[in-house]
Amino acid sequence: MATISDLSLSDLRRELHKYPEAGWKEFRTTAYVAEELEERGYTVHLGEDAIDSTERLGVPDHAEIEGARTRARDEGAPEAYLERMGHITGLVAEKTFGDGRGPVVGLRVDMDALEMTEATGSDHRPANEGFASRHPNEMHACGHDGHTSIGVGVARALAIDGGFDGTLKIFFQPAEEGGRGGLPMSKTKHLDDIEYFIALHLGLDNETGKIIAGYERPLSNAKIDVDFRGEPAHAGKAPNEGHNALQSAATAIQNLYAIPRHEEGATRINVGQVHSPNAQNVISDHARMRVEVRGETADLNEYMLESADRVLEHAAGMYDTEYSTTLYGKTTTFEADDGLVSVVADAAQSVESVTTIVDREDIGASEDASYLIKRVQENGGEATYIGVGASNPSGHHTSRFDIDEEALQIGVDVVVETVRNLPSN
Ligand SMILES: [Zn+2]
Repeated sequence: MATISDLSLSDLRRELHKYPEAGWKEFRTTAYVAEELEERGYTVHLGEDAIDSTERLGVPDHAEIEGARTRARDEGAPEAYLERMGHITGLVAEKTFGDGRGPVVGLRVDMDALEMTEATGSDHRPANEGFASRHPNEMHACGHDGHTSIGVGVARALAIDGGFDGTLKIFFQPAEEGGRGGLPMSKTKHLDDIEYFIALHLGLDNETGKIIAGYERPLSNAKIDVDFRGEPAHAGKAPNEGHNALQSAATAIQNLYAIPRHEEGATRINVGQVHSPNAQNVISDHARMRVEVRGETADLNEYMLESADRVLEHAAGMYDTEYSTTLYGKTTTFEADDGLVSVVADAAQSVESVTTIVDREDIGASEDASYLIKRVQENGGEATYIGVGASNPSGHHTSRFDIDEEALQIGVDVVVETVRNLPSN
């Protein structure tokens, strides 16, 4: 593929869908988007200039990153942009329009795929129409291919038709899944002067034509990887000499789920994986657990994290093992700002294909745009998160996930109309 600039929004989405890249591996996606946006007169910040690399969470090991970068090159990604981003994906594109006296507006879209395998049956449209994932164990099962396309669509519409006096910054964020890319992107200087900030999500079981102007109050979330390290021993000859890491993990699981619920609101905990690769006759010397906690507020999330840590410490103590934890990802929560919510609702009103407008609704899930939103709000800016219905035939994060591509243009139109209607502060 030469460039993506000739592709319609749905063809672009299909192109991205075909070549999904999981978190921190979005080299091909970043490179193609950067190329088009630079051609359209946007200033493009890449790699270390787009992400605070010291704050990155849940980064795959170097060999995996290098492999993804090589794959992107093999699949046509423009070399100049691969070079400019180095080993760090993500980009911020900015452009000042008109006399530039209007507001500085931020739009955040995410780009990463999930580590899962796409359905192949003929009842799954991407498979049936030849644009299913070509990458084993990677799939756009959450609609981020569509989000990236909407970001490009907004960049195109404003570059071509104008109608906005001000500065637009589009944040193409890596590694949203797991809550790994929002925090490092929120720490960059690009957020400092944003007066209005918009993030969005397709689908989420809303039909095409429905717009939620203030999707809010996502659960705060943290994912931790836990390692118990013990002492191996022969399970028959000297079991007493072992310090059983697997037993610590098992004890931890029982008690993590028993962390008391909190009077102040909803909390969640889940252990998704335990791994201890010993033979039957060896006292386990290492067990790894992947755990997540959530809370209705950031404080409740901290309550769960602290409680979990106490359980882990004592589960280690019971069997004389050592434990350590690594933060894999983290998100916080937010509420949308009234002023911006009503600008979005009014903008949606003027988009012909919008059939239903809801002012505010709780998201229910977790979302790491929360860190960018918080940062903008702390600086005195306004922010919201828009739900763009896309009649997804199957749930998010399932192998038959798909979106109605009509929703792409609706998303673009609502954002562009919003940007054009924002008051100057
Ligand atoms: Zn997702």
